Amino acid sequence: MISIQKVDKYFGDYHALCDINIDVPQGQVVIVLGPSGSGKSTLCRTINRLETIDSGEIHIDGHLLPEEGKHLAKLREEVGMVFQQFNLFAHKTILENVALAPKKVKKKSKAEAEKRAMELLDRVGIANQAQKYPAQLSGGQQQRVAIARALAMEPKVMLFDEPTSALDPEMVQEVLDVMSSLAKEGMTMLVVTHEMGFAKKVGDRVLFMAEGAIVEDTDPETFFSNPESDRAKDFLGKIL
Ligand code: ADP
Ligand code: MG
Repeated sequence: MISIQKVDKYFGDYHALCDINIDVPQGQVVIVLGPSGSGKSTLCRTINRLETIDSGEIHIDGHLLPEEGKHLAKLREEVGMVFQQFNLFAHKTILENVALAPKKVKKKSKAEAEKRAMELLDRVGIANQAQKYPAQLSGGQQQRVAIARALAMEPKVMLFDEPTSALDPEMVQEVLDVMSSLAKEGMTMLVVTHEMGFAKKVGDRVLFMAEGAIVEDTDPETFFSNPESDRAKDFLGKIL
């Protein structure tokens, strides 16, 4: 579903992604771990071309991610992304936030887009908040809206970049629960997170990054009980 081959990315002289190679089969949940500045966000952002790459190729469901143009817009629809900051439209209701892109981009009718938006809000447990504005919701609820909004585009892949890092602790679990159910339903997911319980329970695979490179690529069990590299041992020593 996601194929990343020999990808390099520079910011000026800084080598932000170094020879990245990853193949993610459909339905796999990949947890991306690593210290701050190791390139986790950059990796996510290259997968839907919020960042360009300097060499290599990225395929989504067999289609080469192009540099620009109509095909890029189309392919980007297939990759949903959820960020640490929810980035909801403040002056639009929750329902409008979720229905907007399907109307504008997918040219769905208002009725159709809103019906689907209500189904998705129901799925993330906040259908009763549909007529409110983002500021009237808690952080956890807003992040669930952001997930519903991404799902409204019917993506084949979902990328999560520290989706719970900006939340108060008591709201983290409700967002992780939505992500767990999405994983159970078979969504292909790449998740940057510091939630180790989630990583162990829901992750099929762990990628550990350091200085722009993938240092370990293994299953959660092995990574947490028996990391190979000193950098991973050091990282786990600090967070566990
Ligand atoms: P992580 O998400 O693992 O904390 P990032 O992917 O955000 O790391 O950043 C990796 C490195 O690339 C950092 O050193 C960061 O400063 C640098 N970087 C990220 N975005 C930019 C940018 N737009 N311009 C220059 N440097 C950047
Ligand atoms: Mg980051």
